[in-house]
Amino acid sequence: MKRVLFPGSFNPFTRGHADIVERALLLFDEVVIAIGCNVQKTDDAQKQERMQQEMAARAACIAQRYVHASRVRVITYTTLTAEVAQQQQACAILRSVRSIKDYEYEMQMADVNRHLTGIETVVLFARPELASLSSSVVRELQQFGYDTTEFLP
Ligand code: ADP
Repeated sequence: MKRVLFPGSFNPFTRGHADIVERALLLFDEVVIAIGCNVQKTDDAQKQERMQQEMAARAACIAQRYVHASRVRVITYTTLTAEVAQQQQACAILRSVRSIKDYEYEMQMADVNRHLTGIETVVLFARPELASLSSSVVRELQQFGYDTTEFLP
């Protein structure tokens, strides 16, 4: 049983993310989509609670999409990704690389996570046609009132 942890903010979950999940299902038996946020970023308890609520809402929305996919699970977390991977008994962390910019960040994170717990990171390259798609661009377009359905699964 090979389970992989796919961590990220997924704010929002885009077609790029969905494509990575689909491709990972060809390599692993189970994909756990792990929505994380660093609540330690703020001391404000109210803010922390709001962050947790937003994360839970995002998780519910993504879980809805995979309600019939028995090999996909959605969780939320506020601790270290490598620790969550261990708790979930994942054999690896799954990430994706769209560009050189992603590459450098992912290499550093993979190194830290391997150092902490010995867990490996499997990286899939984004499909070229989805490589320019990012959650932050989608969020920005939504703020300006644009219809972003073409970017969402
Ligand atoms: P984070 O904030 O942790 O980077 P994201 O939700 O932005 O989380 O991304 C989670 C993972 O999905 C990352 O590995 C990221 O590179 C990947 N990803 C994001 N957008 C795309 C896309 N359009 N195509 C393929 N992978 C993507």
